[in-house]
Amino acid sequence: MSQTIVDGFAFCRHGEQREGSTAVAALPRLAAEASSQQGEVRWSFQGGRHPKGYPQLSMVVTGEVSLVCQRCLLPMLHSIDTQTKLVLAHDEPEADATEQALDDDTIDVIVSGTALDLLQLVEDEALLSVPLSPRHPVCPDGGPAAAPDKPDSPFAVLQKLKK
Ligand SMILES: [Zn+2]
Repeated sequence: MSQTIVDGFAFCRHGEQREGSTAVAALPRLAAEASSQQGEVRWSFQGGRHPKGYPQLSMVVTGEVSLVCQRCLLPMLHSIDTQTKLVLAHDEPEADATEQALDDDTIDVIVSGTALDLLQLVEDEALLSVPLSPRHPVCPDGGPAAAPDKPDSPFAVLQKLKK
């Protein structure tokens, strides 16, 4: 696993690249959200420099994770497909200052040391992409229009009794 722990600043300075894929089962926080341990997350990092001179990591995370649809409670595959730019800072005060200097919501400023765990970043990103309340675009059982399966509401039952 040492391959995924890098010196963030050196990585950016040298324009290094790293890519790989990691099983969902090997990412415990993501696995806890998933309905199955199957699937994998693919990732790549490219070290570089922000136009304003800050060390910058470009991160791409893709893959599939199995979730449970909150409407029909059947499994659903959630696709992860994100591209993120991360600017590195040495500590929290520097991160705050950099954040203000950049004034760019699309860029995350993170504190990096000489042991930056890339997999941790991948897992954070994958977790962020997981919806709070995942739902199929159209549920296999016919989706929200499948109301007739539901038992009659008490009000409907009352109406029938009145007839
Ligand atoms: Zn569903």
